[in-house]
Amino acid sequence: MREFVPPKGAVIELDPNLCPHCHGRGWRVVADGGAGSATRCDCQKRERGKEYLAKTGIPERYRRCRLSTFKTTHSANPHVREQLQRGHKISQRYVDQFFDVKEKRFREAGLIYIGPPGVGKTHLAAAVLSEVVERYNVRGKFVDFTALLHQIQSTFDNSSSESKASILSPIVDAELLVLDELGAQKPTEWVRDTLYLIMNTRYTRRLPTIFTTNYRLDNVSANKPAVGGDRVRKQERDLLSTRLSELLVSRLYEMAQPVKLTINAADWDYRREVKMHQHRVGS
Ligand SMILES: [Zn+2]
Repeated sequence: MREFVPPKGAVIELDPNLCPHCHGRGWRVVADGGAGSATRCDCQKRERGKEYLAKTGIPERYRRCRLSTFKTTHSANPHVREQLQRGHKISQRYVDQFFDVKEKRFREAGLIYIGPPGVGKTHLAAAVLSEVVERYNVRGKFVDFTALLHQIQSTFDNSSSESKASILSPIVDAELLVLDELGAQKPTEWVRDTLYLIMNTRYTRRLPTIFTTNYRLDNVSANKPAVGGDRVRKQERDLLSTRLSELLVSRLYEMAQPVKLTINAADWDYRREVKMHQHRVGS
């Protein structure tokens, strides 16, 4: 890149508050072997990144989450620490490779963070979203799936000025979407239909989605010797396929790379109990 060069004889007063590269013009000339061509200055990209970040809807609590502030050492359990470090590494790689150089387009596959409450799934998801928006200036969106369903439900009330379509369009259009707390909702047909609409639209538009869920994608007890009946039933209840249709679960596999943030089934069971008391929604 070449600095802006004023024409000979021109008197240019440099305002120290203006961008030193474009002097507030917002664009600059880059060498292209000929007369040079205009390109948007980096300062404009930064401003846009900030503007887009403010529009993501990331909850206050997670707004300052970045990959560099994710703690992978807070568990005493070395297996859990290993999982957290792996989850962090996959997240960093995702941000670094969000633009697919070979295909010359943003990537279309997402991630699904799987693990019990409190391990940092939402932190990682919010951090990836923030960093991608800041770095690539894409329009991103963060949505708590339960809150979204309540918002759509409120449109059924005639006095509401919003329509289901006006709520859903920024979500299905976002260049990167975080859908937080998948499966935490009462699995009614309406909930499944709404989720299918979001996922299918984004899938056909090749737009990436990052999910978080407290439910397992696969059945961990399948490869293990039989344990007590209650335990097996509890593990089956933890499966995402008990909350979503088979169609949605297989679509998830196509749309997102699983990032497991726990391998300790006992730890999982214990935390699931806590979770059920704390914020079980709609059931
Ligand atoms: Zn500039």
